[in-house]
Amino acid sequence: MNAPNKSGWKPTSPAQGAPKHGGPATTTGNYALMLEEDLIFDIGTSDTTGVDLPDAVIGEGNRLAGMIRDDAIDLPGLSEPEAVRHYTRLSRQNYGIDLGFFPLGSCTMKHNPRLNEKVARMPGFADVHPLQPVDTVRGALGVINELAHWLIKLTGMHGVAMSPKAGAHGELCGILCIRAALEARGDAREVVLVPESAHGTNPATAAFAGYRVENIPATSGGRVDLEALKTRLGPDVAAVMITNPNTCGLFEPDMRAISDAVHEAGGFVYCDGANFNAIVGRVRPGDLGVDAMHINLHKTFSTPHGGGGPGSGPVVLSEALSPFGPLPYTARTADGVVHLVEEEDAESFAKEHFGGPLQHFGRMTAFHGQMGMYTRALTYMLSHGADGLKQVSEDAVLNANYILRAMEDVLHAPYAHSGPCMHEALFGDKGFAEGISTLDLAKGLIDEGYHPMTMYFPLVVHGAMLVEPTETESKATIDQFITAFRSVAERAKAGDDSLKTAPHYAPRSRLDETMAARKPLLSYTGLDAE
Ligand SMILES: *Cc1c(COP(=O)(O)O)cnc(C)c1O
Repeated sequence: MNAPNKSGWKPTSPAQGAPKHGGPATTTGNYALMLEEDLIFDIGTSDTTGVDLPDAVIGEGNRLAGMIRDDAIDLPGLSEPEAVRHYTRLSRQNYGIDLGFFPLGSCTMKHNPRLNEKVARMPGFADVHPLQPVDTVRGALGVINELAHWLIKLTGMHGVAMSPKAGAHGELCGILCIRAALEARGDAREVVLVPESAHGTNPATAAFAGYRVENIPATSGGRVDLEALKTRLGPDVAAVMITNPNTCGLFEPDMRAISDAVHEAGGFVYCDGANFNAIVGRVRPGDLGVDAMHINLHKTFSTPHGGGGPGSGPVVLSEALSPFGPLPYTARTADGVVHLVEEEDAESFAKEHFGGPLQHFGRMTAFHGQMGMYTRALTYMLSHGADGLKQVSEDAVLNANYILRAMEDVLHAPYAHSGPCMHEALFGDKGFAEGISTLDLAKGLIDEGYHPMTMYFPLVVHGAMLVEPTETESKATIDQFITAFRSVAERAKAGDDSLKTAPHYAPRSRLDETMAARKPLLSYTGLDAE
């Protein structure tokens, strides 16, 4: 590794070592707007700085005197434009939803309408502080309440815990509600049943909450084995966690029968609602007997994944679970109105509307949750309206089925025989030439200019590829993707060895992913040692 470059400018070396488009190599390693960028430690020097700070003067006898470091801290210094350019250049080597099609299944990477951003940035929303007096944030609380109202309405549920910060956090919230409800009736159940096709966060959540996790097998059609589930139900089962639509991209048509059986056995039904995008406006989980379900606002309701802070995973609750939800309560009263209830009013609200004493399990977060996500999600809902949201799910499902049917003659589609898929299409690596893997195909897609689909998930399919187009992609975009996907799939089947070293045209070629995971270099010193 080079010592920090003291001389300022130095020619960089082309990452791939050769021109990418058949033209001559360049001196800088740049190819027009494809700009190479070295590590900040290589371009910065400890003599340069973007800000001028006065020397620290610490008087004699000051107790801080002994704490002054005598060695240089050796941070790479850059002027402000150099720092800005460094990170801007790096950001241009990244792929994002605003740059191209993002077929990542199980993640719903949908377009984030600019209207959402405009509303979220309105000073009255963007600048609220959680410690402001309540009287000064009535409007913001009104927005949370309005969003709560629509979440309850769209899901046919009774209450909603708004504060969880993501889907997985919502799962934890739901399972803690279930535990509180069971404890309230003195019922110490220990087991949570999770179907094989569940998202990985489901068993993780149940285990984290202290439950023993048991698997329920899937049928050959990729759905929950209802008979196996019924056989396993008993007085030790606290809950069943079901992803619907499931991670094979299929709707669980037996959901009502599953819920009835679980309730009959004294347990609760947790539904992982991360795939709500496929059924919003068409199916209300409350009608299917669900007791708790998280909704990823950053998937179904178009808020950015992690953008501007954490995501948001409100949990809708059935009438039976609503009294056990965390504070602040948001619940529907007999007159159909949804109320956001803070700590000071919780006791009287519980008495009046839940018909009993306070039974909440505590709080999930300090305040109300992620305001920026609430404003974005509500903007999205109101700009679509009821008919628009219904069309969202129809178009998402149509697009996924278009891809499924356009690919099934070149790629193994294990559940294509089970009827239409929901919002994502699932493929496996059966039929690939010896030595070519799903990973190789994904790297080939990078060369074609696409972020690859989700790989090796769900686990029930060998070499799985899970493709989710979402509703906002045009037919032209999807057709172009299908052409690229088909060509890479053909190469995988034909045993095209160049796939094994792909990507060939990305800013970096194939990385050693095992090394990156097992021996991550987390500091410049670490790099030096290598
Ligand atoms: C994304 C997802 C989750 C987890 O949600 P996060 O917001 O990422 O925590 C859980 N289940 C399913 C099916 C998902 O797709």
